[in-house]
Amino acid sequence: MFAKLLEPPYYRAEISIWPEGSIVDLQIRMKRRICPVCDDANLKTRQNAYGRLPWAIIDCAGCGFTHMRDVPETEELVDALAWEKTFAVEAERRRVHTPVQSWMDTHMRWRLNMLPRTEPVDIVNRDAVAGPVIDLGCGSGEHLQKFDTKFTPYGVEISAQLASRAEAVVAARGGRIEQASSHEALMRFPDETFSAATLRSYLEHDADAGPVLAALARKLKRGGFAVVKVPNYGSINRQVMGAKWCGIRLPDHVNYFTRGSLAALAKRHGLSIRFPFLLCLPTDDNMIAILQRV
Ligand SMILES: [Zn+2]
Repeated sequence: MFAKLLEPPYYRAEISIWPEGSIVDLQIRMKRRICPVCDDANLKTRQNAYGRLPWAIIDCAGCGFTHMRDVPETEELVDALAWEKTFAVEAERRRVHTPVQSWMDTHMRWRLNMLPRTEPVDIVNRDAVAGPVIDLGCGSGEHLQKFDTKFTPYGVEISAQLASRAEAVVAARGGRIEQASSHEALMRFPDETFSAATLRSYLEHDADAGPVLAALARKLKRGGFAVVKVPNYGSINRQVMGAKWCGIRLPDHVNYFTRGSLAALAKRHGLSIRFPFLLCLPTDDNMIAILQRV
């Protein structure tokens, strides 16, 4: 049922750090994945044009799911390729490569923020029954503090620095932060613990997305649900912008979900899925889905 990891290959990857253009030579330990949606062995690869060496993206020969086949080991992400660090690198790369879009992003954001925008935590506050809730990839805990007082907030964060900041947010409310990969952290809790979970801009990062959803299905109470927000690879903007689309972020984003592939992955692990109409528009770069334990 779980995605199996093949023997990890090892190779040296040269990673250029913007904006200085300096090359930092890192020894990156990679692991090879089979397709997380359909278990295709990925022996016949179809390269996707959006990849950038050494970060190749492929379209699964079995089901078409777009993903990185070879990904850095978890500890590499924690250390050399910390998400906070590569986010800043990508932001700078986009600023340099797409100055017009970057200017729009920066200068129009305040207008977008004037519109009410539904976040996963809003859906939990409105629809979940009181009890423990968990935010996977909680970062510094910014969203954990938005959970209604009827919930006990828990979080999972792989970065030690961010986890300790999030701990300060939840400790006073009786919750705690697990500093681990999401699958490992979820397995530390008894089955049927959580009323709800939020995966906010998270699942696109996790090379073990399948095992994470399988663990969630066990740790959610019956009728409990997870709200998943991910970049929508099927969006119009991706089709127009191509490799410059904001959802293409290498090597941070290892899964590129469409409605179809996210639904296939959820159903495979025993979760029903629905896409609230206004939260899954093809004109939006992101989509929100509700995965429920039945
Ligand atoms: Zn596949």
